[in-house]
Amino acid sequence: MKAVPMTRFLDATDVAMLVRRIGLGTALQQLASCVRQDFLRWPRFEKAARVASHSPVGVIELMPVTDGAQYAFKYVNGHPHNAMAAMPTVMAFGVLAEVCTGFPLLLADLTLLTALRTAATSALAARAMAVPGADTMALIGNGAQAEFQVLAFLQMLGVRHVRAFDVDGGATARLRRNLAHVPGLTVTAATSIDDALQGAQLITTATADKTRATVLRDGQIGAGVHINALGGDCPGKTELDAALLRRARVVVEYEPQTRIEGEIQQLPPAFPVIELWRILAQEQPGRLDAADVTVFDSVGFALEDYAALRWLHAAACEHHAGRHVELVAIPEAPADLYGWMLQAEQGEAEGGQAQGLLAAGKAGLGMAVA
Ligand code: NAD
Repeated sequence: MKAVPMTRFLDATDVAMLVRRIGLGTALQQLASCVRQDFLRWPRFEKAARVASHSPVGVIELMPVTDGAQYAFKYVNGHPHNAMAAMPTVMAFGVLAEVCTGFPLLLADLTLLTALRTAATSALAARAMAVPGADTMALIGNGAQAEFQVLAFLQMLGVRHVRAFDVDGGATARLRRNLAHVPGLTVTAATSIDDALQGAQLITTATADKTRATVLRDGQIGAGVHINALGGDCPGKTELDAALLRRARVVVEYEPQTRIEGEIQQLPPAFPVIELWRILAQEQPGRLDAADVTVFDSVGFALEDYAALRWLHAAACEHHAGRHVELVAIPEAPADLYGWMLQAEQGEAEGGQAQGLLAAGKAGLGMAVA
């Protein structure tokens, strides 16, 4: 029998163990490098806004992209009230496939990697847009994304001071506990958003609420500040005052998607924005003046997940992480799917496990299988 191609599978624990083995700092750096490389190849990708299915309590989205050699998609949800069901707001998994055959090379949890790739992309944007030397960040919303944002900004921009605020004081306390031993970093619990903004040249908003919130008002923001806004990522879900956006230099990932989902959904379609790849490619400056207010209106784009999946695949192969699974049927005679099914059934029966399945199959199909 010839060897059957197998898909590498990493569950959530496999991904966490791999990231810890590589080291979170190294993983963030490597991921940022993959994200940057792929943004610099922007014209080569076939891109589409993600397909979203909305419900009153959240959203489920599919995010596809391909560069013609590999194809990737991510399944991701956003349910701001999931904590009440003891589940995260955001959960994700993804697939990386080869375009030449369509074979899925990798199936993996992407919940952790979504946080990592979002943080890496935020830091890449901030590095190109913030005033040089910015070392103090206000962090509004201290949930699952928060620690990763802080660590990426520490590592890639040298942010040393974080002023954290959350409507849930327990979230800020957890953030401070989790980051208490990071050398050279101080995380201060702020008493309000205004308090968090004191002395901050960088502001990250990472709140979750399926509503048109105004987490930051225009009058609160002084000259020269860079805002990394990642919580407004759905129609009807925003964080920033429209007046603030109007006076800012706004950078987005993929304009057609951000017009629907980002902060700029509040503004007319002609409002000028710049796509991130142009800033990273230095086609356009991140800021024109030290006094500019800059905004990275981040919603998360499929290209970032493609970069995360290709990083994960390479790292998993190198470290022998995860396991191989027969995710898709590959009969020895490719067109003989029926014969393959009978063989598989025989194998199960020989293993003494198939009787129930066989009976269920016969009953369900309403036919006998020879
Ligand atoms: P989370 O639910 O774990 O954390 C959200 C936190 O925001 C909670 O602690 C909550 O108490 C706090 N919060 C809610 N409203 C607030 C307010 N008005 N002021 C201060 N704090 C407030 O969610 P998460 O996984 O950390 O994600 C945060 C947001 O980022 C979500 O909206 C999510 O959809 C979005 N997100 C965006 C990207 C992207 O690529 N742009 C990626 C991942 C997540």
